[in-house]
Amino acid sequence: MPDLLIKDAVIVTQDAKRRVIRGDVRVEDGRIKEVGRTRGDADEVIEANGDVLIPGFVNAHTHVAMSIMKGLADDVPFDKFLERMFAADAGRKDFDLLAGARLGCLEMVRSGTTTFVDMYYSEDVIAKAVEELGLRGVLCWAVLDKEFTTQKGVPLDNCKRFHSKFKANPRVIPGIGLQGVYVCSKETFLESKAYSDENGLLLHMHLSETRGEVYEHKKKHGKRPVGWLRDIGFLGDRCLAAHSAWLTINEVRAMAKAKASVATCPVSNMKLATGGVAPIPEMLREGVNVSIGTDGSSTNNSLDMFGEMKTLALLQKSNRWDATVVSAQQALDFATLGGSKAIGMTSDLGSIEVGKKADLVMLDANAASICPVTPENAVSCVVYSANPGNVRTVVCDGKVIVRNRRSVLVDEDKVASTASLAAKDLLAKR
Ligand SMILES: [Zn+2]
Repeated sequence: MPDLLIKDAVIVTQDAKRRVIRGDVRVEDGRIKEVGRTRGDADEVIEANGDVLIPGFVNAHTHVAMSIMKGLADDVPFDKFLERMFAADAGRKDFDLLAGARLGCLEMVRSGTTTFVDMYYSEDVIAKAVEELGLRGVLCWAVLDKEFTTQKGVPLDNCKRFHSKFKANPRVIPGIGLQGVYVCSKETFLESKAYSDENGLLLHMHLSETRGEVYEHKKKHGKRPVGWLRDIGFLGDRCLAAHSAWLTINEVRAMAKAKASVATCPVSNMKLATGGVAPIPEMLREGVNVSIGTDGSSTNNSLDMFGEMKTLALLQKSNRWDATVVSAQQALDFATLGGSKAIGMTSDLGSIEVGKKADLVMLDANAASICPVTPENAVSCVVYSANPGNVRTVVCDGKVIVRNRRSVLVDEDKVASTASLAAKDLLAKR
């Protein structure tokens, strides 16, 4: 008998034709077996009664352990922000890292994210939270030059150790997290790439987030960051560049040619007032794969992909004086299919199709915020009207991890109280 049957949902399939259909989804051994009208029974049957079913979101850039650092450096100039973050970050211990990661993972599963890409040190601690909360994490160990790090030992060696330890884990996928051109030398980039070439790891990085970063790099190396990364032989199809807000058209073309992906982080960029608006229309025109990241809770201050999709679409429309420039469908594509492509998992994630992993999110169609939902307006409702409170049920890898708006795997109150305690501790140290 199949493990799970979701009956009578409005299914936003995200298949090649972007069909939205009313029907059922049958799940067996963690994968989708059938989509449409089905017959027969299952171990667990969920009656959707017209609720909206979407693929789980892929949050393509965050720092989940920073979830306990909300409000630590809001409304200050960028250099002040960095100063406060570095000071807080330097004093972190496993206890508060884990408490923050648990809180962030809980926020994500409760808001429909089933896969996220993280960049931080101590990803082995963060992995524990991923396992507990039941979602999937592409955990990219922060790699930078030895002279800039607070990590013990050489960051790339730490990253390799983390990879060896977790490479067989089904929901923890190790990656390499290059912090940025301002703290990573050519050697660090190329050694990371060599390891990625041998082992197929994602090369995740911060790229061209601020104008200062781009100008500084040009002053030092004679080239803007993307051209420099291309010329040293780093850019490739396993690169996922967060931000990419300050790119010229030539840089967009270089990214497209290398088949690199972008994780745009509109809320973080707007809140930090770093000025650049990622040239998404040009990226789409030139064929760059676009995904969306929330960035960490110290810059966003939320891990809500609904808010991120809406903000992205609105920012682009407003910036170009053109309401057609990023549609609701495109925003949803970035948050699902774009994310799955960015992490090299298109055959497993990003849509509700037979054979893919069952990562499913059910939204309450009767919630005032998204009602009335029909197959015709469902995508628009998901992007422009929905919020995390609408998420009723979440399935990851075929297992129900959120039921009736509560995690079935952890004690939510305990996660929150431990996080509050850890945050107090962390702030007291400043
Ligand atoms: Zn970041």
